[in-house]
Amino acid sequence: MLQARASSSGGRRGPPGSDTLKKAFVKSYGCQMNAYDAARMADVLGAQGYAATESVEEADVVVLNTCHIREKAAEKVFSEVGRLRVLKAERAQAGLDTRIVVAGCVAQAEGREILARTPAVDVVVGPQSYHRLPELLAESHKRRVVDTEFPIEDKFDHLPARRTQGVTGFLTVQEGCDKFCAFCVVPYTRGAEVSRSVAAIRAEAEALVAGGVREITLIGQNVNAYHGAGGDGAPASLAGLMDALGTIPGLLRLRYTTSHPNDMADDLIAAHADNPLLMPYLHLPVQSGSDRVLQAMNRRHTGDAYRRLIARIREARPDIALSSDFIVGFPGETEPEFEETMRLVAEIGFASAFSFKYSPRPGTPAAEREDAVPEAVKTERLARLQGLLDAQRHAFNQSTVGQVVDVLIEKTGRHPGQVAGKTPHLQAVQLDAPASTIGTILAVRIVRYGSNSLFGERVADAAAAA
Ligand code: SF4
Repeated sequence: MLQARASSSGGRRGPPGSDTLKKAFVKSYGCQMNAYDAARMADVLGAQGYAATESVEEADVVVLNTCHIREKAAEKVFSEVGRLRVLKAERAQAGLDTRIVVAGCVAQAEGREILARTPAVDVVVGPQSYHRLPELLAESHKRRVVDTEFPIEDKFDHLPARRTQGVTGFLTVQEGCDKFCAFCVVPYTRGAEVSRSVAAIRAEAEALVAGGVREITLIGQNVNAYHGAGGDGAPASLAGLMDALGTIPGLLRLRYTTSHPNDMADDLIAAHADNPLLMPYLHLPVQSGSDRVLQAMNRRHTGDAYRRLIARIREARPDIALSSDFIVGFPGETEPEFEETMRLVAEIGFASAFSFKYSPRPGTPAAEREDAVPEAVKTERLARLQGLLDAQRHAFNQSTVGQVVDVLIEKTGRHPGQVAGKTPHLQAVQLDAPASTIGTILAVRIVRYGSNSLFGERVADAAAAA
């Protein structure tokens, strides 16, 4: 059965005049942008009187916020809807109505096909139209509906106020992508690059901070291409936007993701030295170390250009922790070309990384190629690459042992009396401290590194024990 993964708002009654407790289950797949959209959909439904539920069986509305990056993404959605169809029929027998909504990038790419193949689905809504969910749900009682337009209106102008939970929050500042990497569906599912205005982003950031958020990650498919209208109407850069957010009282940390190497502007590199809120961590996908493969991917940069860029970023912020994405076995990739990726990784050194075997995404140029790398070769190369990346990650985390680091405490830990948080380098840390420290930054001495987490003690506690 489906796993619960929902969203905002605690149990609330329906709108005034309603004595029905309506419930919504929102499940999200994929990237942080999808997680943000799922939370906003929960906000939209919350404003209509729906309480979030983690039990799909009791949901009056079920939203699947799908991701097209996954292999066989559409087929997986169809099989998940098949399970929901059974649940919908069982609830109908008990006299309960269930609306099934497919949202996200698969909805955008396969809209009409979803309605044609899955009679149980009531609403299909793309990533640019989910602010219209209440209308679409109402309409779905008359006919099944698809909305995968790229509307003229800005959905952000129509979304309700953010309901926040927790100490960290995502904030979408930019959507879409104009880069057209040969393997990627984003330019087709999310459309052209669009940036929100500095004023709109600042207002949302202020609401997040007022709700208890202390660290904001600015997100976008190509976030460092951000060029939203600034206070004077002229386009602001991502660095300029972060300057504007830096004056919000109570905001302690800023991060941003995901970036393209060609959009690392001079002022953004300088921000890593100058903006005290910007954390020393950067996720900067390179995908391959081979110039021929990079060209075939339409990445429009070379391995050496990436190396030079990293050198400049490290000059600005010597302690920066780097993360990246890698695709192994892109069509036509030879063994020497793969070894160029291994060499680039060995030279640069990453604190963390995401690495995948190439698999074709329907509708992308790379999916048309006929020089696929055999599956066994991809598997073997990925194992070698991940072995190197894992060793680098372990070495980076191990090097933190003995250091005193600032940890933003986010939540209670696994055991009573424990809390958990993150270092500036985005490493998870567990330590003993009261829950009252949640939302504050503690000085923590790292004493041990486990497989996925660092363990530390508060510096004040350590001094008292000495
Ligand atoms: S820059 Fe990123 S989002 Fe844009 S096409 Fe390339 S991989 Fe996709």
